[in-house]
Amino acid sequence: MVTRPTPEPQIGAGLRTIYVRGLKVLDDGWFFARVEKTPTCWLWRGPRKGFGYGSGPGGEYAHRWAYRTFIGPIPPGKYVLHRCDTPLCVKPDHLFLGTQHDNLKDAAAKGRMIRGAAHYRAKLTEEDVRRIRSLRETGTPATGLCQQYGISFQTVWRILHRKTWAWLT
Ligand SMILES: [Zn+2]
Repeated sequence: MVTRPTPEPQIGAGLRTIYVRGLKVLDDGWFFARVEKTPTCWLWRGPRKGFGYGSGPGGEYAHRWAYRTFIGPIPPGKYVLHRCDTPLCVKPDHLFLGTQHDNLKDAAAKGRMIRGAAHYRAKLTEEDVRRIRSLRETGTPATGLCQQYGISFQTVWRILHRKTWAWLT
């Protein structure tokens, strides 16, 4: 049996090479023009499909497209799930494969998220709060922080004025 090397990705018109964690992957400009990279997630800002997911290249779910493109094939019957519980996230290392059972659990978690308000993340981590404060100090407008983290202006204001997370240094 002849061992053949793994074929290099074909780079066609409109594609350029990018690296994710040192791995060479393709960057389709149409895709990345619709992605907002936040300190945590890569949020899909393009068209939507059902269930709060993005509609990616060719009408495929954006997170599935990202998984196939940046990580590898999706075996039949497998679902692409989010570690971050953010349906619009397309960041490769936030995605993982799971079964339908996992998917239903995941969907329930997402349901909570969506009901929670128009928030991408219902909960901020300590790291987020530190980052919000430092971004504000270095000139990011509070309204930009609202968008970036999917939180209300009041939430940002309370963080910045230490009405919440006051103990966090
Ligand atoms: Zn994410």
